[in-house]
Amino acid sequence: MQNYDVIVIGGGAAGLMCALTAGQRGRRVLVLERANKLGKKILMSGGGRCNFTNLDVTPDRFLSANPHFCISALSRFTQHDFIALVEKHGIAYHEKNRGQLFCDASSKQILAMLLDECASAGVDIRHSCEVASLGADDGFRLETGQGTFTAGSLVVATGGLSIPSLGGSDFGYTLARQFGLRVQPLRAGLVPLTFTGAFRELSARLSGVSLRARVSCAAGSFVDDILFTHRGLSGPAVLQLSSYWQPGEPLQLDLLPGLGIADLLLSFKQDKPRSLLRTQLAGYLPVKLVKELEALWWPDEAGTPLAELPDKLLRDIAGRLANWVLKPAGTEGYRTAEVTLGGIDTRELSSRTMECRTRPGLYFIGEVVDVTGHLGGFNFQWAWSSGWVAGQYV
Ligand SMILES: Cc1cc2nc3c(=O)[nH]c(=O)nc-3n(C[C@H](O)[C@H](O)[C@H](O)COP(=O)(O)OP(=O)(O)OC[C@H]3O[C@@H](n4cnc5c(N)ncnc54)[C@H](O)[C@@H]3O)c2cc1C
Repeated sequence: MQNYDVIVIGGGAAGLMCALTAGQRGRRVLVLERANKLGKKILMSGGGRCNFTNLDVTPDRFLSANPHFCISALSRFTQHDFIALVEKHGIAYHEKNRGQLFCDASSKQILAMLLDECASAGVDIRHSCEVASLGADDGFRLETGQGTFTAGSLVVATGGLSIPSLGGSDFGYTLARQFGLRVQPLRAGLVPLTFTGAFRELSARLSGVSLRARVSCAAGSFVDDILFTHRGLSGPAVLQLSSYWQPGEPLQLDLLPGLGIADLLLSFKQDKPRSLLRTQLAGYLPVKLVKELEALWWPDEAGTPLAELPDKLLRDIAGRLANWVLKPAGTEGYRTAEVTLGGIDTRELSSRTMECRTRPGLYFIGEVVDVTGHLGGFNFQWAWSSGWVAGQYV
Protein backbone atom coordinates (compact mmCIF):
# COMPACT_ATOMS: atom_id res chain seq x y z
CA MET A 1 0.00 0.00 0.00
CA GLN A 2 1.29 3.46 -0.88
CA ASN A 3 0.16 6.67 0.73
CA TYR A 4 -0.10 10.04 -1.02
CA ASP A 5 -1.46 13.45 -0.07
CA VAL A 6 -3.47 13.65 -3.28
CA ILE A 7 -4.72 11.11 -5.82
CA VAL A 8 -5.99 12.46 -9.13
CA ILE A 9 -8.13 10.03 -11.16
CA GLY A 10 -7.81 10.90 -14.86
CA GLY A 11 -4.68 12.11 -16.63
CA GLY A 12 -6.28 14.52 -19.08
CA ALA A 13 -6.14 18.30 -19.26
CA ALA A 14 -7.72 19.09 -15.89
CA GLY A 15 -6.09 16.21 -13.98
CA LEU A 16 -2.56 17.04 -15.13
CA MET A 17 -3.00 20.75 -14.39
CA CYS A 18 -4.27 19.95 -10.88
CA ALA A 19 -1.46 17.45 -10.28
CA LEU A 20 1.35 19.79 -11.31
CA THR A 21 -0.11 22.66 -9.27
CA ALA A 22 -0.42 20.53 -6.14
CA GLY A 23 3.04 19.04 -6.74
CA GLN A 24 4.53 22.52 -6.94
CA ARG A 25 3.07 23.18 -3.48
CA GLY A 26 5.05 20.23 -2.19
CA ARG A 27 2.12 17.83 -2.03
CA ARG A 28 2.82 14.15 -2.80
CA VAL A 29 0.62 13.52 -5.81
CA LEU A 30 -0.34 10.40 -7.77
CA VAL A 31 -2.18 10.52 -11.12
CA LEU A 32 -4.07 7.35 -12.08
CA GLU A 33 -4.93 7.08 -15.77
CA ARG A 34 -6.97 4.19 -17.13
CA ALA A 35 -5.76 4.48 -20.75
CA ASN A 36 -2.38 3.40 -22.05
CA LYS A 37 -1.51 7.06 -22.76
CA LEU A 38 -2.20 10.35 -21.03
CA GLY A 39 -3.97 13.33 -22.56
CA LYS A 40 -5.43 11.63 -25.64
CA LYS A 41 -7.97 14.44 -26.16
CA ILE A 42 -5.21 17.03 -25.94
CA LEU A 43 -3.33 15.20 -28.69
CA MET A 44 -6.40 15.00 -30.96
CA SER A 45 -7.62 18.51 -30.26
CA GLY A 46 -7.72 21.39 -32.70
CA GLY A 47 -6.94 19.12 -35.63
CA GLY A 48 -3.63 18.13 -33.97
CA ARG A 49 -2.68 21.72 -33.08
CA CYS A 50 -4.67 22.09 -29.82
CA ASN A 51 -6.82 25.18 -29.53
CA PHE A 52 -5.54 25.52 -25.97
CA THR A 53 -7.34 28.70 -24.92
CA ASN A 54 -9.05 31.84 -26.16
CA LEU A 55 -7.99 35.46 -25.70
CA ASP A 56 -11.54 36.45 -24.92
CA VAL A 57 -12.68 34.24 -22.03
CA THR A 58 -15.94 35.52 -20.53
CA PRO A 59 -18.52 33.63 -18.45
CA ASP A 60 -21.12 33.90 -21.21
CA ARG A 61 -19.02 31.45 -23.24
CA PHE A 62 -19.95 28.66 -20.80
CA LEU A 63 -23.17 26.69 -20.28
CA SER A 64 -24.16 25.51 -16.81
CA ALA A 65 -27.28 25.32 -14.66
CA ASN A 66 -25.46 27.97 -12.62
CA PRO A 67 -23.83 30.36 -15.09
CA HIS A 68 -21.95 32.16 -12.28
CA PHE A 69 -20.15 29.08 -10.99
CA CYS A 70 -17.24 29.24 -13.46
CA ILE A 71 -16.37 32.89 -12.75
CA SER A 72 -14.19 32.32 -9.69
CA ALA A 73 -11.87 29.71 -11.22
CA LEU A 74 -11.67 31.46 -14.59
CA SER A 75 -10.67 34.73 -12.94
CA ARG A 76 -8.05 33.15 -10.66
CA PHE A 77 -6.28 31.14 -13.35
CA THR A 78 -6.87 33.04 -16.56
CA GLN A 79 -6.07 32.46 -20.22
CA HIS A 80 -3.07 34.78 -19.70
CA ASP A 81 -1.73 32.53 -16.94
CA PHE A 82 -1.91 29.56 -19.30
CA ILE A 83 -0.35 31.54 -22.16
CA ALA A 84 2.52 32.49 -19.81
CA LEU A 85 3.11 28.77 -19.16
CA VAL A 86 3.06 28.03 -22.90
CA GLU A 87 5.57 30.85 -23.50
CA LYS A 88 7.79 29.66 -20.63
CA HIS A 89 8.09 26.37 -22.51
CA GLY A 90 8.94 28.15 -25.76
CA ILE A 91 5.88 26.78 -27.57
CA ALA A 92 5.11 28.87 -30.65
CA TYR A 93 1.42 29.65 -31.15
CA HIS A 94 -0.86 31.82 -33.21
CA GLU A 95 -4.35 33.28 -33.11
CA LYS A 96 -6.49 31.61 -35.75
CA ASN A 97 -9.63 33.68 -35.52
CA ARG A 98 -11.92 35.09 -32.83
CA GLY A 99 -9.19 34.88 -30.20
CA GLN A 100 -8.62 31.12 -30.66
CA LEU A 101 -5.00 30.22 -29.85
CA PHE A 102 -3.40 27.17 -31.50
CA CYS A 103 0.10 25.69 -31.40
CA ASP A 104 2.08 26.45 -34.57
CA ALA A 105 3.49 22.92 -34.60
CA SER A 106 1.63 20.26 -32.62
CA SER A 107 -0.64 19.56 -29.66
CA LYS A 108 2.05 17.11 -28.51
CA GLN A 109 3.88 20.19 -27.19
CA ILE A 110 1.04 21.04 -24.78
CA LEU A 111 0.97 17.49 -23.41
CA ALA A 112 4.79 17.42 -23.16
CA MET A 113 4.67 20.73 -21.28
CA LEU A 114 2.17 19.39 -18.73
CA LEU A 115 4.13 16.15 -18.26
CA ASP A 116 7.37 18.13 -17.89
CA GLU A 117 5.82 20.30 -15.20
CA CYS A 118 4.46 17.22 -13.43
CA ALA A 119 7.91 15.58 -13.51
CA SER A 120 9.59 18.71 -12.10
CA ALA A 121 6.98 18.84 -9.35
CA GLY A 122 7.64 15.19 -8.44
CA VAL A 123 4.20 13.91 -9.46
CA ASP A 124 3.90 10.11 -9.79
CA ILE A 125 1.94 8.97 -12.83
CA ARG A 126 0.53 5.54 -13.55
CA HIS A 127 -1.17 4.77 -16.83
CA SER A 128 -3.12 1.61 -17.77
CA CYS A 129 -4.34 1.68 -14.18
CA GLU A 130 -7.98 0.88 -13.55
CA VAL A 131 -9.63 1.70 -10.23
CA ALA A 132 -11.39 -1.46 -9.03
CA SER A 133 -12.87 -0.09 -5.82
CA LEU A 134 -12.91 3.04 -3.75
CA GLY A 135 -13.27 3.17 0.00
CA ALA A 136 -13.90 6.47 1.72
CA ASP A 137 -13.56 6.61 5.43
CA ASP A 138 -10.92 8.76 7.00
CA GLY A 139 -9.41 9.71 3.63
CA PHE A 140 -9.66 7.61 0.48
CA ARG A 141 -8.45 4.10 -0.33
CA LEU A 142 -8.26 2.93 -3.92
CA GLU A 143 -7.76 -0.68 -4.99
CA THR A 144 -6.30 -0.82 -8.50
CA GLY A 145 -4.72 -3.37 -10.82
CA GLN A 146 -1.37 -1.86 -9.76
CA GLY A 147 -1.87 -1.97 -6.01
CA THR A 148 -3.59 -0.13 -3.19
CA PHE A 149 -3.23 3.62 -2.81
CA THR A 150 -4.48 5.93 -0.09
CA ALA A 151 -4.74 9.72 0.14
CA GLY A 152 -6.43 12.47 2.12
CA SER A 153 -7.60 14.24 -1.04
CA LEU A 154 -9.19 12.62 -4.07
CA VAL A 155 -9.63 14.57 -7.31
CA VAL A 156 -12.01 13.22 -9.95
CA ALA A 157 -10.88 14.44 -13.38
CA THR A 158 -12.29 11.68 -15.55
CA GLY A 159 -13.91 13.96 -18.16
CA GLY A 160 -17.17 13.35 -20.00
CA LEU A 161 -18.81 10.65 -22.08
CA SER A 162 -17.75 11.88 -25.49
CA ILE A 163 -15.57 9.73 -27.74
CA PRO A 164 -14.98 6.56 -25.69
CA SER A 165 -11.86 5.71 -27.73
CA LEU A 166 -10.29 8.95 -26.45
CA GLY A 167 -11.17 8.21 -22.82
CA GLY A 168 -14.87 9.10 -22.64
CA SER A 169 -16.18 7.51 -19.44
CA ASP A 170 -19.07 7.62 -16.98
CA PHE A 171 -16.76 6.94 -14.03
CA GLY A 172 -17.03 10.44 -12.53
CA TYR A 173 -20.81 10.59 -12.73
CA THR A 174 -21.23 7.11 -11.23
CA LEU A 175 -18.83 7.93 -8.42
CA ALA A 176 -20.65 11.20 -7.70
CA ARG A 177 -23.98 9.37 -7.45
CA GLN A 178 -22.39 6.84 -5.09
CA PHE A 179 -21.57 9.77 -2.80
CA GLY A 180 -25.19 10.96 -3.08
CA LEU A 181 -24.29 13.98 -5.21
CA ARG A 182 -26.68 15.41 -7.77
CA VAL A 183 -25.75 15.18 -11.45
CA GLN A 184 -27.30 17.49 -14.06
CA PRO A 185 -28.70 15.59 -17.09
CA LEU A 186 -26.00 14.60 -19.59
CA ARG A 187 -26.18 15.41 -23.29
CA ALA A 188 -23.77 15.43 -26.23
CA GLY A 189 -22.53 18.96 -27.07
CA LEU A 190 -20.48 20.52 -29.88
CA VAL A 191 -21.79 17.76 -32.10
CA PRO A 192 -23.07 17.57 -35.72
CA LEU A 193 -26.85 17.54 -36.22
CA THR A 194 -28.51 14.74 -38.18
CA PHE A 195 -31.61 14.84 -40.36
CA THR A 196 -33.97 12.39 -42.05
CA GLY A 197 -35.97 12.54 -45.27
CA ALA A 198 -35.51 15.05 -48.08
CA PHE A 199 -33.09 17.34 -46.19
CA ARG A 200 -30.80 14.43 -45.37
CA GLU A 201 -30.70 13.51 -49.06
CA LEU A 202 -29.99 17.11 -49.99
CA SER A 203 -27.21 17.29 -47.36
CA ALA A 204 -25.66 14.11 -48.69
CA ARG A 205 -25.63 15.54 -52.23
CA LEU A 206 -24.01 18.72 -50.87
CA SER A 207 -21.63 16.86 -48.54
CA GLY A 208 -18.40 18.87 -48.22
CA VAL A 209 -19.99 22.20 -49.21
CA SER A 210 -19.50 24.93 -46.60
CA LEU A 211 -20.58 28.53 -46.29
CA ARG A 212 -20.97 31.26 -43.72
CA ALA A 213 -24.49 31.34 -42.28
CA ARG A 214 -26.50 32.14 -39.19
CA VAL A 215 -28.10 29.20 -37.37
CA SER A 216 -30.59 29.85 -34.60
CA CYS A 217 -32.84 28.00 -32.18
CA ALA A 218 -34.86 29.21 -29.22
CA ALA A 219 -31.86 29.47 -26.87
CA GLY A 220 -29.02 30.50 -29.17
CA SER A 221 -27.87 31.96 -32.48
CA PHE A 222 -24.43 31.76 -34.14
CA VAL A 223 -22.90 33.18 -37.31
CA ASP A 224 -19.98 31.14 -38.60
CA ASP A 225 -19.26 28.44 -41.17
CA ILE A 226 -21.72 25.59 -41.64
CA LEU A 227 -20.83 22.36 -43.43
CA PHE A 228 -23.14 19.92 -45.21
CA THR A 229 -22.39 16.29 -44.32
CA HIS A 230 -23.73 12.90 -45.41
CA ARG A 231 -26.05 12.89 -42.40
CA GLY A 232 -26.93 16.57 -42.03
CA LEU A 233 -25.11 19.67 -40.85
CA SER A 234 -21.84 20.37 -39.07
CA GLY A 235 -19.27 23.20 -39.05
CA PRO A 236 -18.51 25.62 -36.20
CA ALA A 237 -21.87 27.45 -36.22
CA VAL A 238 -23.83 24.18 -36.07
CA LEU A 239 -21.54 22.66 -33.42
CA GLN A 240 -22.03 25.75 -31.24
CA LEU A 241 -25.78 25.63 -31.74
CA SER A 242 -25.95 21.92 -30.90
CA SER A 243 -25.12 22.77 -27.27
CA TYR A 244 -28.25 24.96 -27.11
CA TRP A 245 -30.59 22.97 -29.35
CA GLN A 246 -33.22 20.76 -27.65
CA PRO A 247 -34.45 17.53 -29.30
CA GLY A 248 -37.63 18.08 -31.29
CA GLU A 249 -36.97 21.78 -31.76
CA PRO A 250 -36.72 23.34 -35.25
CA LEU A 251 -33.76 25.50 -36.25
CA GLN A 252 -33.58 28.48 -38.56
CA LEU A 253 -30.91 28.93 -41.18
CA ASP A 254 -30.08 32.35 -42.62
CA LEU A 255 -27.94 31.65 -45.68
CA LEU A 256 -26.98 35.30 -46.24
CA PRO A 257 -26.58 36.77 -42.73
CA GLY A 258 -26.26 40.53 -42.50
CA LEU A 259 -27.60 41.13 -46.01
CA GLY A 260 -30.96 42.70 -46.87
CA ILE A 261 -31.78 39.75 -49.10
CA ALA A 262 -35.07 41.00 -50.57
CA ASP A 263 -33.41 44.28 -51.61
CA LEU A 264 -30.50 42.31 -53.02
CA LEU A 265 -32.71 40.10 -55.19
CA LEU A 266 -34.73 43.09 -56.39
CA SER A 267 -31.50 44.90 -57.27
CA PHE A 268 -30.42 41.86 -59.35
CA LYS A 269 -33.68 42.23 -61.28
CA GLN A 270 -33.03 45.90 -61.92
CA ASP A 271 -29.31 45.67 -62.73
CA LYS A 272 -29.19 42.36 -64.67
CA PRO A 273 -32.73 41.86 -66.01
CA ARG A 274 -31.71 39.29 -68.66
CA SER A 275 -29.77 37.08 -66.25
CA LEU A 276 -31.04 34.16 -64.18
CA LEU A 277 -31.53 34.27 -60.44
CA ARG A 278 -29.19 31.30 -59.97
CA THR A 279 -26.40 33.13 -61.84
CA GLN A 280 -26.67 36.15 -59.58
CA LEU A 281 -26.99 34.12 -56.36
CA ALA A 282 -23.90 32.13 -57.32
CA GLY A 283 -21.93 35.30 -56.60
CA TYR A 284 -22.96 34.94 -52.96
CA LEU A 285 -23.52 31.23 -52.33
CA PRO A 286 -21.81 27.97 -53.46
CA VAL A 287 -23.04 27.02 -56.96
CA LYS A 288 -24.00 23.48 -55.89
CA LEU A 289 -26.19 24.86 -53.12
CA VAL A 290 -27.83 27.41 -55.44
CA LYS A 291 -28.78 24.61 -57.84
CA GLU A 292 -30.40 22.63 -55.02
CA LEU A 293 -32.28 25.71 -53.80
CA GLU A 294 -33.50 26.43 -57.32
CA ALA A 295 -34.87 22.90 -57.62
CA LEU A 296 -36.61 23.34 -54.26
CA TRP A 297 -37.97 26.87 -54.39
CA TRP A 298 -38.30 28.10 -58.01
CA PRO A 299 -38.10 25.03 -60.27
CA ASP A 300 -40.68 26.32 -62.73
CA GLU A 301 -38.90 29.66 -63.12
CA ALA A 302 -35.39 28.21 -63.35
CA GLY A 303 -34.96 29.34 -66.97
CA THR A 304 -36.90 32.61 -66.63
CA PRO A 305 -34.90 35.86 -66.80
CA LEU A 306 -35.01 37.98 -63.65
CA ALA A 307 -36.98 40.74 -65.44
CA GLU A 308 -39.91 38.34 -65.76
CA LEU A 309 -39.93 37.12 -62.16
CA PRO A 310 -42.64 38.82 -60.08
CA ASP A 311 -41.33 40.89 -57.13
CA LYS A 312 -43.54 38.78 -54.86
CA LEU A 313 -41.71 35.60 -55.89
CA LEU A 314 -38.33 37.26 -55.27
CA ARG A 315 -39.48 38.43 -51.85
CA ASP A 316 -40.72 34.94 -51.13
CA ILE A 317 -37.38 33.38 -52.06
CA ALA A 318 -35.57 36.05 -50.01
CA GLY A 319 -37.70 35.06 -47.01
CA ARG A 320 -36.70 31.42 -47.42
CA LEU A 321 -33.02 32.26 -47.84
CA ALA A 322 -33.14 34.29 -44.62
CA ASN A 323 -35.25 31.87 -42.63
CA TRP A 324 -35.01 28.27 -43.82
CA VAL A 325 -36.76 26.31 -41.09
CA LEU A 326 -35.37 22.79 -40.59
CA LYS A 327 -36.11 20.06 -38.09
CA PRO A 328 -33.07 18.03 -37.03
CA ALA A 329 -33.75 14.37 -36.18
CA GLY A 330 -31.02 14.37 -33.54
CA THR A 331 -27.27 14.62 -33.11
CA GLU A 332 -24.41 12.28 -33.96
CA GLY A 333 -24.18 11.62 -30.20
CA TYR A 334 -21.16 10.88 -28.03
CA ARG A 335 -19.42 9.08 -30.91
CA THR A 336 -18.35 12.42 -32.38
CA ALA A 337 -19.32 15.02 -29.74
CA GLU A 338 -16.46 17.22 -28.53
CA VAL A 339 -17.99 17.60 -25.09
CA THR A 340 -20.62 16.36 -22.65
CA LEU A 341 -23.11 18.92 -21.38
CA GLY A 342 -24.36 18.62 -17.82
CA GLY A 343 -22.46 16.75 -15.11
CA ILE A 344 -21.75 17.15 -11.41
CA ASP A 345 -24.25 19.71 -10.14
CA THR A 346 -22.31 22.84 -9.20
CA ARG A 347 -24.43 23.22 -6.04
CA GLU A 348 -22.44 20.29 -4.69
CA LEU A 349 -19.08 22.08 -5.10
CA SER A 350 -17.27 25.15 -3.85
CA SER A 351 -16.55 27.41 -6.84
CA ARG A 352 -13.33 28.56 -5.10
CA THR A 353 -11.81 25.14 -4.53
CA MET A 354 -13.95 22.63 -6.51
CA GLU A 355 -14.23 20.66 -3.25
CA CYS A 356 -17.42 18.79 -2.54
CA ARG A 357 -19.49 20.60 0.10
CA THR A 358 -20.71 17.42 1.80
CA ARG A 359 -17.57 15.28 1.47
CA PRO A 360 -14.40 17.17 2.47
CA GLY A 361 -11.34 16.00 0.54
CA LEU A 362 -13.31 15.01 -2.57
CA TYR A 363 -12.88 17.29 -5.62
CA PHE A 364 -14.35 17.33 -9.14
CA ILE A 365 -12.67 19.27 -11.95
CA GLY A 366 -12.85 19.72 -15.73
CA GLU A 367 -15.51 18.41 -18.05
CA VAL A 368 -17.11 16.06 -15.50
CA VAL A 369 -18.52 19.19 -13.79
CA ASP A 370 -21.65 20.88 -15.15
CA VAL A 371 -19.67 23.61 -16.95
CA THR A 372 -19.32 23.37 -20.73
CA GLY A 373 -17.58 25.88 -22.96
CA HIS A 374 -18.27 27.09 -26.45
CA LEU A 375 -16.08 25.92 -29.30
CA GLY A 376 -12.83 27.89 -29.49
CA GLY A 377 -10.51 26.87 -26.64
CA PHE A 378 -13.00 27.50 -23.81
CA ASN A 379 -13.25 23.86 -22.72
CA PHE A 380 -9.51 23.56 -22.22
CA GLN A 381 -9.47 26.88 -20.34
CA TRP A 382 -12.11 25.48 -17.98
CA ALA A 383 -9.97 22.36 -17.51
CA TRP A 384 -6.86 24.47 -16.76
CA SER A 385 -8.70 26.91 -14.43
CA SER A 386 -10.68 24.34 -12.46
CA GLY A 387 -7.60 22.08 -12.24
CA TRP A 388 -5.42 24.92 -11.00
CA VAL A 389 -7.82 26.13 -8.30
CA ALA A 390 -8.29 22.60 -6.96
CA GLY A 391 -4.49 22.18 -7.06
CA GLN A 392 -4.20 25.10 -4.63
CA TYR A 393 -6.30 23.36 -1.97
CA VAL A 394 -5.89 19.59 -2.23
C1 LIG B 1 -11.79 15.45 -30.86
C2 LIG B 1 -11.83 16.53 -29.80
C3 LIG B 1 -11.21 17.74 -30.04
C4 LIG B 1 -11.26 18.75 -29.07
N1 LIG B 1 -10.64 19.93 -29.34
C5 LIG B 1 -10.67 20.93 -28.40
C6 LIG B 1 -9.96 22.15 -28.60
O1 LIG B 1 -9.24 22.31 -29.59
N2 LIG B 1 -10.06 23.11 -27.63
C7 LIG B 1 -10.80 22.93 -26.50
O2 LIG B 1 -10.84 23.83 -25.65
N3 LIG B 1 -11.44 21.77 -26.25
C8 LIG B 1 -11.39 20.77 -27.17
N4 LIG B 1 -12.03 19.58 -26.92
C9 LIG B 1 -12.67 19.39 -25.60
C10 LIG B 1 -11.58 19.06 -24.57
O3 LIG B 1 -10.76 18.04 -25.09
C11 LIG B 1 -12.18 18.61 -23.25
O4 LIG B 1 -13.13 19.54 -22.81
C12 LIG B 1 -11.08 18.46 -22.19
O5 LIG B 1 -10.15 17.49 -22.62
C13 LIG B 1 -11.66 18.09 -20.85
O6 LIG B 1 -10.58 17.86 -19.96
P1 LIG B 1 -10.75 16.82 -18.75
O7 LIG B 1 -9.38 16.70 -18.16
O8 LIG B 1 -11.88 17.20 -17.91
O9 LIG B 1 -11.13 15.46 -19.46
P2 LIG B 1 -10.26 14.56 -20.46
O10 LIG B 1 -9.27 15.40 -21.17
O11 LIG B 1 -11.25 13.79 -21.25
O12 LIG B 1 -9.46 13.61 -19.49
C14 LIG B 1 -10.09 12.62 -18.72
C15 LIG B 1 -9.09 11.49 -18.50
O13 LIG B 1 -9.61 10.60 -17.56
C16 LIG B 1 -9.33 9.28 -17.99
N5 LIG B 1 -10.28 8.39 -17.33
C17 LIG B 1 -11.60 8.24 -17.58
N6 LIG B 1 -12.12 7.32 -16.75
C18 LIG B 1 -11.11 6.90 -15.94
C19 LIG B 1 -11.01 5.97 -14.88
N7 LIG B 1 -12.08 5.26 -14.49
N8 LIG B 1 -9.82 5.78 -14.28
C20 LIG B 1 -8.74 6.48 -14.68
N9 LIG B 1 -8.76 7.35 -15.68
C21 LIG B 1 -9.94 7.58 -16.31
C22 LIG B 1 -9.48 9.35 -19.49
O14 LIG B 1 -8.82 8.26 -20.12
C23 LIG B 1 -8.82 10.69 -19.78
O15 LIG B 1 -7.44 10.58 -19.98
C24 LIG B 1 -11.97 18.56 -27.86
C25 LIG B 1 -12.60 17.33 -27.63
C26 LIG B 1 -12.51 16.31 -28.57
C27 LIG B 1 -13.18 15.00 -28.29
